[in-house]
Amino acid sequence: MTDAGTVALVGGGPGDESLLTAAALAALGRADVVLYDRLAPHHRLSELAPNATLIDVGKRPGHHPIGQGGIEAQIVAHALGGSNVVRFKGGDPYVFGRGSEEVLACHREGIPVKVIPGVTSAVAVPASAGIPLTHRGVSHMFTVVSGHAPLTDAEHRHLAGLGGTIVVLMGVGTLATLTQGLLREGLAPDTPVAIIERGFSEKQRTTIADLSSVVHVAAQVEVRSPAVLVIGRVVDLAFDGHLDAAALMDRASRLAAFQ
Ligand code: SAH
Repeated sequence: MTDAGTVALVGGGPGDESLLTAAALAALGRADVVLYDRLAPHHRLSELAPNATLIDVGKRPGHHPIGQGGIEAQIVAHALGGSNVVRFKGGDPYVFGRGSEEVLACHREGIPVKVIPGVTSAVAVPASAGIPLTHRGVSHMFTVVSGHAPLTDAEHRHLAGLGGTIVVLMGVGTLATLTQGLLREGLAPDTPVAIIERGFSEKQRTTIADLSSVVHVAAQVEVRSPAVLVIGRVVDLAFDGHLDAAALMDRASRLAAFQ
């Protein structure tokens, strides 16, 4: 009987190969099989994982070619067949990546599995647009929310009451529900909102609006997934690092898409 291989869930970061960790590169270098997502930096995988069979299990919104169960079955089957498997995921495997489900699938079969953290888009994509999630005197917390499904009224209320930065992943489709919910629960209509699309690609684009206008602006400029949303006063810092100057800026220029 073949000895079982191992599984590494590897965080690939937000798309830029230079943000792969040394541990990620080492795991890829040892891999016999790599199952990868589209949001992971996969274009040079044949060089980074020269001995591996590369399998695209890429998920796009509303289009899951293999499905989560199918991915887990493939990870397990390759490992039980003796291969060292890398499950190569966008960002960090444990941030909305269903990584924990894949780890459990390995545990159920007694397959040795480890998780290699990655740079999450929740922090790195705003940073690439010049937006810090915290800034002394402006925001001392951030909450990362999945916009995959609409939030409940209670969740909108708690988020609106926190007074910190709100970061939303997978939030393009639920933008209207989220903004309406936050407005209803008392978040100021002029709270700045940034939408950063396709971070770390040549087509990266940042759109700035405020809570009351963002749905309209996003429709006008045809915002598309993948995008990270940042809601909060820290968005003003994206301009020049001086809140007072940003506060004085002409409203029209804030609504314009830049970059
Ligand atoms: N585990 C990932 C997140 C998976 S959910 C992480 O830690 O980054 C997928 C969502 O992440 C996308 O819908 C989008 O909101 C965000 N995302 C990931 N990479 C992105 C990128 N390069 N640019 C913009 N958004 C990105």
